[in-house]
Amino acid sequence: MPVPASHDVVILGGGPAGSAAATTAARLGLRVVVIDKARFPRDKLCGGLFTGRARGEYVRIFGCTPDPGLFEERRAISFHLGDRTLSRMEDVPPMYLTMRRSLDAHLLSLAAQAGAELRTGCRVADIDLAAERVVLEDGTTLAYRVLIGADGVTSAVARTLFGRPFDPKKIGFALEKEMPPQTDADVLRTVRVDFGAAEWGYGWSFPKRASTTVGVGGLHRLNPDMKARLHDYAALLQQGDADGMKGHFLPFGDHRRRPGRGNVLLAGDAAGFVDPITGEGIGHALTSGRLAAEAAVLALREGRQGDAAAVYRMATRDLRHSLATARMLRPIVFSSGLAPMFLGGFGASGTMRHAYLAMLAGDCEYGQILGLLARRLPLKLWQHYRQRRTRPNT
Ligand SMILES: Cc1cc2nc3c(=O)[nH]c(=O)nc-3n(C[C@H](O)[C@H](O)[C@H](O)COP(=O)(O)OP(=O)(O)OC[C@H]3O[C@@H](n4cnc5c(N)ncnc54)[C@H](O)[C@@H]3O)c2cc1C
Repeated sequence: MPVPASHDVVILGGGPAGSAAATTAARLGLRVVVIDKARFPRDKLCGGLFTGRARGEYVRIFGCTPDPGLFEERRAISFHLGDRTLSRMEDVPPMYLTMRRSLDAHLLSLAAQAGAELRTGCRVADIDLAAERVVLEDGTTLAYRVLIGADGVTSAVARTLFGRPFDPKKIGFALEKEMPPQTDADVLRTVRVDFGAAEWGYGWSFPKRASTTVGVGGLHRLNPDMKARLHDYAALLQQGDADGMKGHFLPFGDHRRRPGRGNVLLAGDAAGFVDPITGEGIGHALTSGRLAAEAAVLALREGRQGDAAAVYRMATRDLRHSLATARMLRPIVFSSGLAPMFLGGFGASGTMRHAYLAMLAGDCEYGQILGLLARRLPLKLWQHYRQRRTRPNT
Protein backbone atom coordinates (compact mmCIF):
# COMPACT_ATOMS: atom_id res chain seq x y z
CA MET A 1 0.00 0.00 0.00
CA PRO A 2 1.46 3.42 -0.91
CA VAL A 3 2.10 5.60 2.15
CA PRO A 4 1.24 9.35 1.91
CA ALA A 5 3.93 10.97 -0.21
CA SER A 6 6.55 12.95 1.71
CA HIS A 7 7.53 14.56 -1.59
CA ASP A 8 5.83 15.29 -4.89
CA VAL A 9 8.98 14.40 -6.77
CA VAL A 10 11.94 12.31 -5.66
CA ILE A 11 14.95 12.66 -7.96
CA LEU A 12 17.74 10.13 -7.89
CA GLY A 13 21.00 11.72 -9.06
CA GLY A 14 22.32 15.26 -8.68
CA GLY A 15 24.16 15.61 -12.02
CA PRO A 16 22.97 18.05 -14.73
CA ALA A 17 19.75 16.08 -15.39
CA GLY A 18 18.86 15.89 -11.69
CA SER A 19 19.64 19.57 -11.00
CA ALA A 20 17.65 20.68 -14.04
CA ALA A 21 14.67 18.55 -12.98
CA ALA A 22 14.88 19.71 -9.35
CA THR A 23 15.14 23.41 -10.22
CA THR A 24 12.24 23.23 -12.68
CA ALA A 25 9.97 21.26 -10.34
CA ALA A 26 10.77 23.39 -7.28
CA ARG A 27 10.18 26.63 -9.21
CA LEU A 28 6.80 25.26 -10.30
CA GLY A 29 5.86 24.75 -6.67
CA LEU A 30 6.46 21.04 -6.06
CA ARG A 31 8.05 19.49 -2.96
CA VAL A 32 11.28 18.05 -4.35
CA VAL A 33 14.18 16.07 -2.93
CA VAL A 34 17.40 15.17 -4.78
CA ILE A 35 19.33 12.12 -3.56
CA ASP A 36 22.92 11.52 -4.63
CA LYS A 37 25.36 8.92 -3.36
CA ALA A 38 28.21 11.42 -3.74
CA ARG A 39 28.97 14.47 -1.67
CA PHE A 40 29.50 17.58 -3.81
CA PRO A 41 31.77 18.82 -5.19
CA ARG A 42 32.51 15.44 -6.75
CA ASP A 43 34.45 14.40 -9.84
CA LYS A 44 32.66 13.17 -12.95
CA LEU A 45 34.66 11.84 -15.86
CA CYS A 46 33.82 14.14 -18.77
CA GLY A 47 35.52 16.27 -21.42
CA GLY A 48 33.61 19.23 -20.06
CA LEU A 49 32.71 20.63 -23.48
CA PHE A 50 29.59 22.67 -22.78
CA THR A 51 28.03 23.48 -26.13
CA GLY A 52 26.02 26.52 -27.17
CA ARG A 53 23.00 24.22 -27.05
CA ALA A 54 23.72 23.38 -23.40
CA ARG A 55 24.25 27.04 -22.61
CA GLY A 56 20.86 27.96 -24.09
CA GLU A 57 19.21 25.29 -21.96
CA TYR A 58 21.07 26.49 -18.86
CA VAL A 59 19.72 30.03 -19.32
CA ARG A 60 16.21 28.70 -19.85
CA ILE A 61 16.22 26.50 -16.73
CA PHE A 62 18.19 28.52 -14.23
CA GLY A 63 17.10 31.95 -15.44
CA CYS A 64 20.59 33.47 -15.44
CA THR A 65 23.61 33.56 -17.69
CA PRO A 66 26.26 30.97 -16.81
CA ASP A 67 28.84 32.11 -14.26
CA PRO A 68 31.86 33.07 -16.42
CA GLY A 69 34.18 31.77 -13.69
CA LEU A 70 33.04 28.23 -14.52
CA PHE A 71 33.68 28.35 -18.25
CA GLU A 72 36.49 29.11 -20.67
CA GLU A 73 35.34 30.17 -24.12
CA ARG A 74 36.97 28.66 -27.21
CA ARG A 75 36.33 29.84 -30.79
CA ALA A 76 38.73 27.65 -32.75
CA ILE A 77 38.44 23.97 -33.57
CA SER A 78 40.61 21.54 -35.50
CA PHE A 79 39.72 18.14 -36.95
CA HIS A 80 42.34 15.45 -37.53
CA LEU A 81 42.68 11.95 -38.93
CA GLY A 82 45.85 10.23 -37.73
CA ASP A 83 48.71 12.66 -38.26
CA ARG A 84 46.74 14.55 -40.94
CA THR A 85 44.92 17.82 -40.18
CA LEU A 86 41.55 17.70 -41.97
CA SER A 87 40.67 21.27 -41.15
CA ARG A 88 41.18 24.09 -38.65
CA MET A 89 38.48 26.72 -38.20
CA GLU A 90 38.60 30.10 -36.46
CA ASP A 91 35.72 32.28 -35.23
CA VAL A 92 33.30 29.37 -34.94
CA PRO A 93 30.24 29.61 -32.66
CA PRO A 94 31.56 29.68 -29.08
CA MET A 95 32.23 26.44 -27.23
CA TYR A 96 32.67 26.49 -23.46
CA LEU A 97 35.07 24.30 -21.52
CA THR A 98 34.39 23.48 -17.89
CA MET A 99 35.34 21.06 -15.11
CA ARG A 100 32.42 18.94 -14.00
CA ARG A 101 33.54 19.00 -10.39
CA SER A 102 32.74 22.73 -10.24
CA LEU A 103 29.87 22.80 -12.75
CA ASP A 104 27.79 20.06 -11.11
CA ALA A 105 28.24 21.48 -7.60
CA HIS A 106 27.14 24.86 -8.96
CA LEU A 107 24.03 23.42 -10.67
CA LEU A 108 23.03 21.53 -7.54
CA SER A 109 23.41 24.69 -5.45
CA LEU A 110 21.05 26.46 -7.88
CA ALA A 111 18.53 23.63 -7.35
CA ALA A 112 18.79 24.12 -3.58
CA GLN A 113 18.30 27.89 -4.01
CA ALA A 114 15.16 27.15 -6.02
CA GLY A 115 13.80 25.22 -3.02
CA ALA A 116 14.82 21.60 -3.61
CA GLU A 117 15.87 19.56 -0.58
CA LEU A 118 19.27 17.89 -1.03
CA ARG A 119 20.34 14.56 0.40
CA THR A 120 23.89 14.00 -0.77
CA GLY A 121 26.26 11.29 0.41
CA CYS A 122 23.19 9.00 0.58
CA ARG A 123 23.00 5.57 -1.02
CA VAL A 124 19.72 4.04 -2.00
CA ALA A 125 18.99 0.63 -0.47
CA ASP A 126 15.69 -0.08 -2.24
CA ILE A 127 13.36 1.35 -4.86
CA ASP A 128 9.86 0.00 -4.29
CA LEU A 129 7.78 0.90 -7.34
CA ALA A 130 4.60 -0.73 -6.04
CA ALA A 131 4.75 1.16 -2.73
CA GLU A 132 6.01 4.33 -4.50
CA ARG A 133 8.90 4.84 -2.15
CA VAL A 134 12.68 4.93 -2.01
CA VAL A 135 14.50 3.58 1.03
CA LEU A 136 17.92 5.00 1.82
CA GLU A 137 20.75 2.98 3.36
CA ASP A 138 20.34 4.86 6.65
CA GLY A 139 16.76 3.54 6.83
CA THR A 140 14.99 6.78 5.81
CA THR A 141 11.93 6.19 3.61
CA LEU A 142 10.93 8.80 1.05
CA ALA A 143 7.51 8.35 -0.53
CA TYR A 144 6.97 10.00 -3.91
CA ARG A 145 4.17 10.83 -6.31
CA VAL A 146 6.61 10.95 -9.24
CA LEU A 147 10.11 9.43 -9.29
CA ILE A 148 12.75 10.81 -11.69
CA GLY A 149 15.78 8.62 -12.37
CA ALA A 150 18.64 11.00 -13.19
CA ASP A 151 21.21 8.60 -11.82
CA GLY A 152 23.45 8.27 -14.84
CA VAL A 153 24.40 5.48 -17.19
CA THR A 154 24.26 2.68 -14.59
CA SER A 155 20.89 3.95 -13.36
CA ALA A 156 19.34 1.95 -10.52
CA VAL A 157 15.94 3.36 -11.51
CA ALA A 158 16.33 2.07 -15.11
CA ARG A 159 17.43 -1.31 -13.74
CA THR A 160 14.38 -1.46 -11.46
CA LEU A 161 12.05 -0.52 -14.33
CA PHE A 162 13.55 -2.52 -17.18
CA GLY A 163 15.81 -5.17 -15.63
CA ARG A 164 19.07 -3.56 -16.79
CA PRO A 165 20.26 0.00 -17.26
CA PHE A 166 21.63 -0.46 -20.81
CA ASP A 167 22.43 -2.98 -23.52
CA PRO A 168 26.18 -3.70 -23.23
CA LYS A 169 26.41 -4.44 -26.98
CA LYS A 170 25.21 -0.95 -27.93
CA ILE A 171 26.92 1.20 -25.33
CA GLY A 172 30.02 3.37 -25.64
CA PHE A 173 33.04 3.50 -23.38
CA ALA A 174 35.50 6.34 -22.90
CA LEU A 175 38.86 6.84 -21.22
CA GLU A 176 40.30 10.15 -20.12
CA LYS A 177 43.21 11.75 -18.38
CA GLU A 178 43.84 15.31 -17.22
CA MET A 179 47.17 16.24 -18.78
CA PRO A 180 49.37 19.30 -18.30
CA PRO A 181 48.05 22.67 -19.52
CA GLN A 182 49.11 23.91 -22.94
CA THR A 183 51.90 26.43 -23.26
CA ASP A 184 51.46 27.14 -26.98
CA ALA A 185 48.86 29.93 -27.29
CA ASP A 186 47.38 28.55 -30.54
CA VAL A 187 46.92 25.07 -29.09
CA LEU A 188 45.47 26.53 -25.88
CA ARG A 189 42.65 28.25 -27.72
CA THR A 190 41.79 25.32 -30.00
CA VAL A 191 39.39 22.47 -29.30
CA ARG A 192 40.82 19.39 -31.03
CA VAL A 193 38.88 16.39 -32.38
CA ASP A 194 40.59 13.29 -33.83
CA PHE A 195 38.50 10.94 -35.94
CA GLY A 196 39.94 7.45 -36.08
CA ALA A 197 41.43 7.58 -32.57
CA ALA A 198 38.87 4.89 -31.64
CA GLU A 199 36.52 2.60 -33.57
CA TRP A 200 33.12 4.26 -34.04
CA GLY A 201 34.25 7.14 -31.91
CA TYR A 202 36.99 9.72 -31.70
CA GLY A 203 39.67 11.32 -29.57
CA TRP A 204 39.59 14.78 -28.03
CA SER A 205 41.96 17.28 -26.53
CA PHE A 206 40.19 20.09 -24.67
CA PRO A 207 42.73 22.67 -23.46
CA LYS A 208 41.75 24.39 -20.22
CA ARG A 209 43.66 26.84 -18.03
CA ALA A 210 44.71 24.32 -15.40
CA SER A 211 44.88 21.13 -17.49
CA THR A 212 44.19 19.59 -20.88
CA THR A 213 41.42 16.98 -20.86
CA VAL A 214 42.53 14.23 -23.26
CA GLY A 215 40.31 11.27 -24.03
CA VAL A 216 39.17 8.61 -26.46
CA GLY A 217 35.71 7.10 -26.68
CA GLY A 218 33.82 4.78 -28.98
CA LEU A 219 31.58 1.74 -29.17
CA HIS A 220 32.60 -0.56 -26.33
CA ARG A 221 32.31 -3.85 -28.22
CA LEU A 222 34.51 -2.61 -31.10
CA ASN A 223 37.28 -1.25 -28.86
CA PRO A 224 38.59 -4.08 -26.67
CA ASP A 225 41.94 -2.25 -26.68
CA MET A 226 40.72 1.16 -25.55
CA LYS A 227 43.61 1.64 -23.08
CA ALA A 228 46.13 1.14 -25.90
CA ARG A 229 44.11 3.63 -27.97
CA LEU A 230 44.52 6.33 -25.34
CA HIS A 231 48.23 5.56 -24.97
CA ASP A 232 48.62 5.90 -28.77
CA TYR A 233 46.59 9.10 -28.82
CA ALA A 234 48.61 10.65 -25.98
CA ALA A 235 51.78 9.73 -27.89
CA LEU A 236 50.42 11.41 -31.03
CA LEU A 237 49.67 14.58 -29.05
CA GLN A 238 53.09 14.47 -27.37
CA GLN A 239 51.62 15.73 -24.15
CA GLY A 240 52.75 13.15 -21.68
CA ASP A 241 51.77 9.57 -21.00
CA ALA A 242 48.28 8.29 -20.32
CA ASP A 243 49.12 6.31 -17.16
CA GLY A 244 46.49 6.88 -14.49
CA MET A 245 43.67 7.17 -17.05
CA LYS A 246 40.08 6.64 -15.90
CA GLY A 247 37.12 5.11 -17.73
CA HIS A 248 33.36 5.45 -17.78
CA PHE A 249 30.49 4.10 -19.88
CA LEU A 250 28.90 6.48 -22.34
CA PRO A 251 25.35 5.59 -23.42
CA PHE A 252 25.61 6.92 -26.95
CA GLY A 253 23.41 5.30 -29.53
CA ASP A 254 21.08 3.45 -27.19
CA HIS A 255 18.46 5.89 -25.98
CA ARG A 256 15.15 4.64 -24.65
CA ARG A 257 12.10 5.01 -26.88
CA ARG A 258 9.99 4.85 -23.69
CA PRO A 259 12.01 6.78 -21.13
CA GLY A 260 9.86 5.75 -18.18
CA ARG A 261 6.71 4.00 -17.13
CA GLY A 262 3.68 5.19 -15.14
CA ASN A 263 4.94 7.76 -12.64
CA VAL A 264 8.63 6.89 -13.07
CA LEU A 265 10.69 8.91 -15.58
CA LEU A 266 14.30 8.61 -16.77
CA ALA A 267 16.36 11.66 -17.72
CA GLY A 268 19.88 12.27 -19.07
CA ASP A 269 22.27 9.31 -19.28
CA ALA A 270 19.77 7.14 -17.41
CA ALA A 271 17.60 7.35 -20.56
CA GLY A 272 20.60 7.11 -22.92
CA PHE A 273 20.12 10.71 -24.10
CA VAL A 274 23.64 11.17 -25.49
CA ASP A 275 24.42 12.22 -29.05
CA PRO A 276 25.57 9.03 -30.86
CA ILE A 277 28.02 10.95 -33.05
CA THR A 278 29.48 13.72 -30.90
CA GLY A 279 29.02 12.06 -27.48
CA GLU A 280 27.50 15.28 -26.14
CA GLY A 281 25.34 14.54 -23.11
CA ILE A 282 25.28 17.56 -20.78
CA GLY A 283 22.88 19.61 -22.92
CA HIS A 284 20.51 16.67 -23.41
CA ALA A 285 20.67 15.92 -19.67
CA LEU A 286 19.58 19.50 -18.92
CA THR A 287 16.80 19.40 -21.52
CA SER A 288 15.42 16.03 -20.47
CA GLY A 289 15.63 16.92 -16.76
CA ARG A 290 13.56 20.02 -17.43
CA LEU A 291 11.05 18.11 -19.57
CA ALA A 292 10.72 15.37 -16.93
CA ALA A 293 9.91 17.96 -14.25
CA GLU A 294 7.42 19.75 -16.51
CA ALA A 295 5.72 16.43 -17.29
CA ALA A 296 5.53 15.65 -13.56
CA VAL A 297 3.97 19.04 -12.84
CA LEU A 298 1.39 18.66 -15.61
CA ALA A 299 0.40 15.13 -14.59
CA LEU A 300 0.19 16.02 -10.88
CA ARG A 301 -1.87 19.13 -11.51
CA GLU A 302 -4.41 17.05 -13.39
CA GLY A 303 -4.34 14.33 -10.75
CA ARG A 304 -3.00 11.84 -13.31
CA GLN A 305 0.42 11.04 -11.92
CA GLY A 306 0.30 7.58 -13.50
CA ASP A 307 0.33 9.32 -16.90
CA ALA A 308 3.51 11.28 -16.20
CA ALA A 309 5.64 8.94 -18.34
CA ALA A 310 3.22 9.22 -21.28
CA VAL A 311 3.31 13.04 -21.04
CA TYR A 312 7.10 12.94 -20.81
CA ARG A 313 7.36 10.60 -23.79
CA MET A 314 5.45 13.11 -25.91
CA ALA A 315 7.58 15.96 -24.59
CA THR A 316 10.85 14.19 -25.51
CA ARG A 317 9.69 13.33 -29.02
CA ASP A 318 11.87 15.93 -30.78
CA LEU A 319 14.91 15.04 -28.71
CA ARG A 320 14.47 11.30 -29.36
CA HIS A 321 13.85 11.93 -33.04
CA SER A 322 17.07 13.94 -33.30
CA LEU A 323 19.06 11.18 -31.55
CA ALA A 324 17.47 8.54 -33.82
CA THR A 325 18.43 10.57 -36.92
CA ALA A 326 22.00 10.89 -35.61
CA ARG A 327 22.12 7.14 -35.09
CA MET A 328 20.99 6.61 -38.66
CA LEU A 329 23.77 8.92 -39.87
CA ARG A 330 26.42 7.35 -37.67
CA PRO A 331 27.61 4.68 -40.17
CA ILE A 332 28.38 7.46 -42.66
CA VAL A 333 30.75 9.04 -40.14
CA PHE A 334 32.27 5.92 -38.60
CA SER A 335 31.91 2.77 -40.75
CA SER A 336 35.06 1.59 -42.52
CA GLY A 337 33.25 1.61 -45.90
CA LEU A 338 31.84 5.14 -45.77
CA ALA A 339 34.00 7.03 -43.28
CA PRO A 340 36.93 7.74 -45.68
CA MET A 341 34.54 9.35 -48.15
CA PHE A 342 32.75 11.29 -45.42
CA LEU A 343 35.97 12.52 -43.81
CA GLY A 344 37.40 13.53 -47.18
CA GLY A 345 34.22 15.50 -47.84
CA PHE A 346 34.17 16.90 -44.31
CA GLY A 347 37.73 18.18 -44.71
CA ALA A 348 36.90 19.80 -48.04
CA SER A 349 33.38 21.05 -47.39
CA GLY A 350 32.94 24.22 -45.33
CA THR A 351 29.17 23.71 -45.48
CA MET A 352 29.33 20.36 -43.70
CA ARG A 353 31.75 21.62 -41.04
CA HIS A 354 29.62 24.71 -40.38
CA ALA A 355 26.51 22.52 -40.13
CA TYR A 356 28.27 20.32 -37.56
CA LEU A 357 29.23 23.37 -35.49
CA ALA A 358 25.77 24.94 -35.85
CA MET A 359 24.39 21.68 -34.51
CA LEU A 360 26.64 21.88 -31.43
CA ALA A 361 25.53 25.49 -30.99
CA GLY A 362 21.89 24.39 -31.01
CA ASP A 363 21.15 26.33 -34.21
CA CYS A 364 20.59 23.28 -36.41
CA GLU A 365 19.22 19.75 -35.92
CA TYR A 366 20.30 16.41 -37.36
CA GLY A 367 17.29 16.48 -39.68
CA GLN A 368 18.85 19.47 -41.49
CA ILE A 369 22.23 17.71 -41.66
CA LEU A 370 20.47 14.69 -43.13
CA GLY A 371 18.97 16.98 -45.78
CA LEU A 372 22.41 18.41 -46.59
CA LEU A 373 23.92 14.95 -46.89
CA ALA A 374 21.06 13.67 -49.01
CA ARG A 375 21.82 16.44 -51.53
CA ARG A 376 25.57 15.75 -51.56
CA LEU A 377 25.89 12.05 -50.93
CA PRO A 378 24.90 10.61 -54.33
CA LEU A 379 27.61 12.66 -56.10
CA LYS A 380 30.19 11.88 -53.40
CA LEU A 381 29.34 8.17 -53.58
CA TRP A 382 29.75 8.23 -57.35
CA GLN A 383 33.11 10.04 -57.12
CA HIS A 384 34.27 7.62 -54.42
CA TYR A 385 33.24 4.64 -56.53
CA ARG A 386 35.03 6.04 -59.61
CA GLN A 387 38.21 6.75 -57.63
CA ARG A 388 38.27 3.21 -56.28
CA ARG A 389 37.76 1.75 -59.74
CA THR A 390 40.49 3.83 -61.40
CA ARG A 391 43.01 3.52 -58.51
CA PRO A 392 45.78 1.11 -59.59
CA ASN A 393 46.12 -1.99 -57.43
CA THR A 394 49.11 -1.72 -55.12
C1 LIG B 1 34.77 10.34 -20.75
C2 LIG B 1 33.51 11.11 -21.05
C3 LIG B 1 33.61 12.35 -21.65
C4 LIG B 1 32.44 13.10 -21.91
N1 LIG B 1 32.57 14.35 -22.43
C5 LIG B 1 31.47 15.10 -22.63
C6 LIG B 1 31.60 16.45 -23.09
O1 LIG B 1 32.71 16.96 -23.30
N2 LIG B 1 30.46 17.18 -23.28
C7 LIG B 1 29.22 16.64 -23.03
O2 LIG B 1 28.21 17.34 -23.24
N3 LIG B 1 29.08 15.37 -22.56
C8 LIG B 1 30.16 14.61 -22.33
N4 LIG B 1 30.02 13.35 -21.82
C9 LIG B 1 28.67 12.86 -21.46
C10 LIG B 1 28.22 13.51 -20.14
O3 LIG B 1 29.23 13.35 -19.15
C11 LIG B 1 26.92 12.87 -19.63
O4 LIG B 1 26.03 12.73 -20.72
C12 LIG B 1 26.27 13.71 -18.54
O5 LIG B 1 27.08 13.72 -17.39
C13 LIG B 1 24.89 13.15 -18.16
O6 LIG B 1 24.37 13.83 -17.04
P1 LIG B 1 23.39 13.08 -16.02
O7 LIG B 1 22.94 14.10 -15.05
O8 LIG B 1 22.38 12.33 -16.78
O9 LIG B 1 24.28 11.96 -15.30
P2 LIG B 1 25.59 12.11 -14.42
O10 LIG B 1 26.30 13.35 -14.72
O11 LIG B 1 26.31 10.81 -14.57
O12 LIG B 1 25.04 12.21 -12.93
C14 LIG B 1 24.43 11.12 -12.29
C15 LIG B 1 24.49 11.33 -10.79
O13 LIG B 1 23.76 10.25 -10.18
C16 LIG B 1 24.44 9.83 -9.02
N5 LIG B 1 24.06 8.43 -8.78
C17 LIG B 1 24.31 7.37 -9.57
N6 LIG B 1 23.79 6.26 -9.03
C18 LIG B 1 23.18 6.64 -7.88
C19 LIG B 1 22.47 5.95 -6.87
N7 LIG B 1 22.24 4.63 -6.93
N8 LIG B 1 22.01 6.65 -5.81
C20 LIG B 1 22.22 7.99 -5.74
N9 LIG B 1 22.89 8.70 -6.68
C21 LIG B 1 23.36 8.03 -7.72
C22 LIG B 1 25.92 10.01 -9.38
O14 LIG B 1 26.70 10.16 -8.19
C23 LIG B 1 25.88 11.30 -10.21
O15 LIG B 1 26.10 12.44 -9.41
C24 LIG B 1 31.16 12.58 -21.56
C25 LIG B 1 31.07 11.32 -20.96
C26 LIG B 1 32.23 10.58 -20.70
C27 LIG B 1 32.12 9.24 -20.03
